[in-house]
Amino acid sequence: MDINITIENLKKKGYSVSYFERSEDATEYLNNIIDGKTVGFGDSTTLFSIKLFEKLKTHNEVFDPQNCQIGENFNDIAKKCLTTEIFITSVNALTQTGEIVNIDDTGNRIAGSLFGHEKVFFVVGINKLVDSLEDAIYRGKNIAAPKNAKRLGIMTPCAIKGYKCYNCSTPDRICNAMIIHYRKMSNIEMEIILINEELGF
Ligand code: SF4
Repeated sequence: MDINITIENLKKKGYSVSYFERSEDATEYLNNIIDGKTVGFGDSTTLFSIKLFEKLKTHNEVFDPQNCQIGENFNDIAKKCLTTEIFITSVNALTQTGEIVNIDDTGNRIAGSLFGHEKVFFVVGINKLVDSLEDAIYRGKNIAAPKNAKRLGIMTPCAIKGYKCYNCSTPDRICNAMIIHYRKMSNIEMEIILINEELGF
């Protein structure tokens, strides 16, 4: 994959794109441009790993379903994330041709990435970059979702037997919807933060 071609294709699809060699610099960039806002997170291990919540919360009102406090639960926080000014999440895969793929369980990530905010940021490590839409769907199903299932410790065949999708029908299945962003949504700003590090699943 060619990072410059990817950036050009994303721009042609209406996205702003910022590229960083180091996640620390990406975190600093976001921390500088998001100030005095309500911010919702899309349940992302990438965001958790770059410690963005800790930075932003000092000067914004930030909601992160992965940072529930005592007395809070995932759904309550995830609902608040849908009505914030800013929404930040990651992706399961990003293609060199500029498409984004995300698979979701509860729907909070994909819902928040589509509508209702001033601006949406997708924070993407280089490991999420693939050649084609077909590769992106494969990655979402057979790499990202099984790793997430294992992280959550749930009883799905991908979590128990290994890293591939078995298209299960278990009660714990986390793959309930898939969204393909063909290009930027209308009436909303969207920026891709590309980082030359392996981040998230
Ligand atoms: S459909 Fe089931 S087996 Fe496949 S990745 Fe999702 S949870 Fe795992």
